[in-house]
Amino acid sequence: SQRLQPQIAAIHPYVPGKPVSELQRELGLQSVVKLASNENPLGCSEQVKQSISAQLTEVARYPDGGCYQLKAALAEFLQLKSSQIAIGNGSNELLELVARVFAGPGDEIVFSQYGFAVYPISAQVVGAKGIEVAAQDYGHDLDAVLAAISDKTKVIYLANANNPTGTYFDKQTWQRFIAQVPSHIIVVLDEAYIEYARSFVEQDRFFDGTDYLSDYANLLVSRTFSKAYGLAALRVGYMAGCEEIIGYINQVREPFNVNQMAQVAALAALNDQTFVAESVKQNFLGMRQLTQAFADLGLDYIPSVGNFICVNVGDDAAKLNQQLLQQGVIVRPVANYGMAGYLRISVGSQIENDFFIDVLKGLLN
Ligand code: PMP
Repeated sequence: SQRLQPQIAAIHPYVPGKPVSELQRELGLQSVVKLASNENPLGCSEQVKQSISAQLTEVARYPDGGCYQLKAALAEFLQLKSSQIAIGNGSNELLELVARVFAGPGDEIVFSQYGFAVYPISAQVVGAKGIEVAAQDYGHDLDAVLAAISDKTKVIYLANANNPTGTYFDKQTWQRFIAQVPSHIIVVLDEAYIEYARSFVEQDRFFDGTDYLSDYANLLVSRTFSKAYGLAALRVGYMAGCEEIIGYINQVREPFNVNQMAQVAALAALNDQTFVAESVKQNFLGMRQLTQAFADLGLDYIPSVGNFICVNVGDDAAKLNQQLLQQGVIVRPVANYGMAGYLRISVGSQIENDFFIDVLKGLLN
């Protein structure tokens, strides 16, 4: 339409997968295994379920627009002040808000090749130019990111671990990088998968982005309850940074952006670190199950520190994806990321992984 902003028309939207129930109906299959959205195969903590039940009488009331209790708990968890935390309807919302607050037409937003799909969209929505920096071995090349900075750069998005590649840049690389970014440029460090990364990365290479907030006022760290905490359906994530910048984010977000069920569930989930630890442990074992199967099948994969892994299945990836679907296995093609030969597999439960591996073996042999 004539009225549509041209930058909106140009957006390649984020395309979520078909609902499992729909696929089951379509294919007439009893069991469908979904390994496509990096969800937690263990579900969520029992305490989360109880906390939601207890809120059912409050459905007629608006949620706490300031997420007071959740922010207080996160502040204690992260050793920060409540005023340094913003809560979002998924971390996705907060990632987009950063672009809205800090960039507009004529500005540049930098991210990496194979970076998370939401970053280029966030740039386009505000009319800023997205600058995609070439990756190195599927990982972020932080020297190249530095080299891509211009006087128009307003925001840099980096995911560690990255989705969909599962790659990680280490503490030393990060320290060198963040020290060289001009302090007027916002660096968004997206740590959606940090709980898993901690279990895979050697201690001296691992880092927690929130440890750098006191030194860098231009740093924002985003995290989510959708993965290791198992709350993807509820949509809740958070961003930590200096008071001033978090204040701006809170200024532009919708007043009741996080619903009450999500708030109480996130609080309960945060308080059950035993569940998180068990999820991370199961993921570690599940990752080993998948990589061993890939090795047995002679398939290359990109070593991952997340709860998903990209496996190289060659030129027929699209066809193989369709064949997997026909047999009730939903995975994620990543051709839209420029990785046409790969499929991204989320780590499932041991039973789900076995089911996927059996189907895959059947199709490849
Ligand atoms: N960042 C990365 C790197 C992700 O992979 C995802 C989920 N796919 C998100 C952010 C957003 O997660 P959510 O909105 O559920 O918090």
